[in-house]
Amino acid sequence: MRRADAIDEKTASASPGNSVIPPIPLPQPTDASRPFWESCHRHELRIQHCLQCGAFIHYPKIHCPMDGSDRFDWPIMSGKGYVYSFVVVLRAFHAGFKLQVPYVVAIIQLEEGVRMISNVVGIDPDKVYVGMRVEVEFDDVSADISLPKFHPYLQGGQ
Ligand SMILES: [Zn+2]
Repeated sequence: MRRADAIDEKTASASPGNSVIPPIPLPQPTDASRPFWESCHRHELRIQHCLQCGAFIHYPKIHCPMDGSDRFDWPIMSGKGYVYSFVVVLRAFHAGFKLQVPYVVAIIQLEEGVRMISNVVGIDPDKVYVGMRVEVEFDDVSADISLPKFHPYLQGGQ
């Protein structure tokens, strides 16, 4: 065993201030999902929409799962919806999320009827409930990627 390495490791692990938190893994846009991520970057929530059958599709796909069409547009969504289901993540499954726990991963039902997985932010995770009204916001996590997240939304614009 290389003694110098062993000492270095021990020293590093003994000093929490030295531990480096890796960056969170970021989405890697594909040909199908690029329009979605580009719209998020502009802080617009756009969802893939089949021009043949009218279905909203999320996550984005190369072909419509209903009819196989590859003709789409990307209408802008209201950004409003409600919590359809959720979990509170208490233990980071990736070291990059260590400082974010506890956080909420939720299925958001948009007003337009399509569901997406996201985070609920701006509220104590213990206060989130199924049916809670939410509205999108965007978290600029890198120069190119902005993640759509949802915060509580009170009708009446409060
Ligand atoms: Zn279709």
